[in-house]
Amino acid sequence: MALDEIYTTLIMEESRSTHNKGDLDDPTYKELGHNPSCGDEITLQIKMNGDVLEDLSYTGVGCAISQASTSIMIDTIRGKSRQEAIDMADLFINMIKGVAVEEEELEPLEDAVAFQGIAQLPARVKCAVLPWYTLKGILEK
Ligand SMILES: [Zn+2]
Repeated sequence: MALDEIYTTLIMEESRSTHNKGDLDDPTYKELGHNPSCGDEITLQIKMNGDVLEDLSYTGVGCAISQASTSIMIDTIRGKSRQEAIDMADLFINMIKGVAVEEEELEPLEDAVAFQGIAQLPARVKCAVLPWYTLKGILEK
């Protein structure tokens, strides 16, 4: 199986997964992210424990790319510090925008590197970056 196919399978499976969907009890942050060009709407919820993103969830609707990207982002940043999560968001956004990043620099992104190929699909870029911009919007306030 080609790497691209593995990533496509991962994205499709994750888009149907519900393990990060739902409401948190008493979230510290709850913010709507909207991508009008596709109609994606996700509400990201974060429960902070001091400086750590202790738990996250999301609700919302949208295309497979936006849903999968949100779910994989949550798995990737759960338990990270605020600054680590911001750094990962910047890394992901650079990767998707096609800004040159070394392969080893992408390691912290774990499964989120599955979206690297989206850089070749301009119409889907906004779907993939939506949760990460929403996250940055929350954490950089
Ligand atoms: Zn979309």
